[in-house]
Amino acid sequence: MPACPLLFRHEGVKMEINLDAGRLAVFIGGFLLFLLLETLRPARPWRGERGARLAFNVGVAALNTVLVRVFIYVPMLLWTVHVEEQGWGISRWLGLYGWTEIIVSLVVLDFFDYLWHRGNHRWRFLWRFHKGHHADTGMDVGTALRFHPGELFLSGGAKALWVLVWGPTPVAWFLFELLVSLCSQFHHSNIDFPDPVERWLSRFIVTPRFHAAHHAVERRFGDANFSTILSCWDPLFRSYADPGSRSAPAWAGMGLGLPQERGKAFSIRAWLEEPLRSRNLDLGVAGAREDPAQR
Ligand SMILES: [Zn+2]
Ligand SMILES: [Zn+2]
Repeated sequence: MPACPLLFRHEGVKMEINLDAGRLAVFIGGFLLFLLLETLRPARPWRGERGARLAFNVGVAALNTVLVRVFIYVPMLLWTVHVEEQGWGISRWLGLYGWTEIIVSLVVLDFFDYLWHRGNHRWRFLWRFHKGHHADTGMDVGTALRFHPGELFLSGGAKALWVLVWGPTPVAWFLFELLVSLCSQFHHSNIDFPDPVERWLSRFIVTPRFHAAHHAVERRFGDANFSTILSCWDPLFRSYADPGSRSAPAWAGMGLGLPQERGKAFSIRAWLEEPLRSRNLDLGVAGAREDPAQR
């Protein structure tokens, strides 16, 4: 076991990193980079509420950063180290090591993340909390911060199970968390690419246009495009919706975000309490055939 799990040395790939400070630096650096890009070249025109949405989402992030670090991120690193020491997990049984282990682990963990996201839209209890993310009335880099603490705790439990089943090394886990954070900031940001670039890029990774279809209020799109890093999972498991072209997005005119949530879009208290309210389950999507959580 390393002297301190937050300062980890990985001999196989010559890596010595402070896992705690490194994650925060990448998180803040990525956020500022995509904030700058979407300010310079926004794909959708900004509406008047941009500042209020950003303030709300940064407030949520500040709360989550404290909670997640103490209750999820550090315990998860300790758990990953413990699982590795015990030799648990499929990756250990397969004898994977070095960069091979890291790359295979990233793909496998990304697949688990796809299944988990799909489950969040499928199961009522999970949807209660995940709905807080979809309540955003627009989509930009700030939306990547908007996750209910309840969802983060639930996904923390799910991730502990993934680590036990797969057995990634702490470095692979750390890189996975970094990539999820960066890719989430990227595909939520209000930027877009010319159609040929978009078509090429979205064959490999989730792009902002690909993910915007997931935030469209029309369920035909909202029940699709669940991938986080690699975009292959949706076509492979028949949950892909073509987001359309740059000049004519397929969801144009429908808007983004759950319309019923707009009244309390900028009230942290109402937003935090929402999943705990009994009437929560009545809140579906206006004009939709059905609420995904009702199925
Ligand atoms: Zn979702
Ligand atoms: Zn999203």
